Amino acid sequence: MDAKITLLPGDGIGPEVVAEAEKVLAAVGSKFGHTFEFARALAGGIAIDQTGNPLPDETLAVCRQSDAVLLGAVGGPKWSDPKAPVRPEQGLLKIRKELGLFANIRPVKIYPALAEASTLKRDVIENVDLVIVRELTGGIYFGQPQGPVDGPNGRAAIDTMHYTEAEVARLMHVAFKIARQRRKKVTSVDKANVLASSRLWREVAHQVAAEYPDVEFEDVLVDACAMHLIRRPGDFDVVAAGNLFGDILSDEASMLAGSMGMLPSASLAEGKFGLYEPIHGSAPDIAGQGIANPLATILSAAMMLRTTFDLPAEADAVEAAVDSVLARGYRTPDLAWSGETKVGTEEMGDLVAQTVIEA
Ligand code: NAD
Repeated sequence: MDAKITLLPGDGIGPEVVAEAEKVLAAVGSKFGHTFEFARALAGGIAIDQTGNPLPDETLAVCRQSDAVLLGAVGGPKWSDPKAPVRPEQGLLKIRKELGLFANIRPVKIYPALAEASTLKRDVIENVDLVIVRELTGGIYFGQPQGPVDGPNGRAAIDTMHYTEAEVARLMHVAFKIARQRRKKVTSVDKANVLASSRLWREVAHQVAAEYPDVEFEDVLVDACAMHLIRRPGDFDVVAAGNLFGDILSDEASMLAGSMGMLPSASLAEGKFGLYEPIHGSAPDIAGQGIANPLATILSAAMMLRTTFDLPAEADAVEAAVDSVLARGYRTPDLAWSGETKVGTEEMGDLVAQTVIEA
């Protein structure tokens, strides 16, 4: 296969972890006989510094010419003044909207070697293997009207939670298709007892569920879901939610695994195109020290191989290499708490790449 991948390293530890994922993809290419062509473009704070725009038009153009995008992270204290006219996060919202990335997929899996990293008891998290499917381009983050409004009682502000039937249906189809490749269970999250947009969400979710009779289906209110996720997380397989609820629940679910440095994500458009990124941010506190954990970005690259390029054996090879490196006791400092072998960002990338080649 010949594939074009755009790298958006971004800010802070972004460039450090993206370099290691690139290394691992190159190893996959040489082991399995694929050519991955890499292009680099600016996004985030670095793009603001160099062009005044967190997502320059040239970056969008490069992304559109590629088969998939791998993003590091954007943001940092330098650009975080809330009064600043442009902020790195605006680039993230824009890229999702412009590239039609409507479904965010976040798998959360517990690595036996890392179970101690969770704040929850081992017996609660032992069997956790779930995926949050979050709607990414609609709902309250994009609904209009939005903004400050002058009211008779002083300052006020408004946000609008808006969903169309089509937006809910396409997200639910993604969730059911993922469930079919897994344990065949979908949990749809809403707040249908209070919100009109959630009642539509529930109605459409049921209509789509009827098309997948082989997949078990349940509705759960978002407040109950927040509770069940820490009480009985092992019961969930695929959890589908709107933009706001999915944002909050996916962060909650990520903490089951204990470490930010291990969790990948994908944001998918219609068809095969996707943007892949670790769930963590730019970690300015450790940037430039060569100690960031690159595994979340490497695992995001594995998701790219499986989802955009239909290369399941190659994706399995990367995930197995990560398992093997951890099982052999290698840890970046964020994961090393009891005498394991500490390695830096580059060495961790080298170990995974080498394991892919030698497997
Ligand atoms: P963060 O995820 O950057 O860091 C939180 C903590 O986790 C820090 O202590 C950090 O050192 C640690 N950490 C994160 N990733 C790590 C890794 N790979 N290896 C080792 N340790 C890691 O979150 P934050 O500090 O709240 O945000 C920092 C900046 O990142 C902010 O500007 C924020 O807006 C931005 N951010 C960007 C994204 C994104 O690009 N998608 C997501 C979240 C936050």
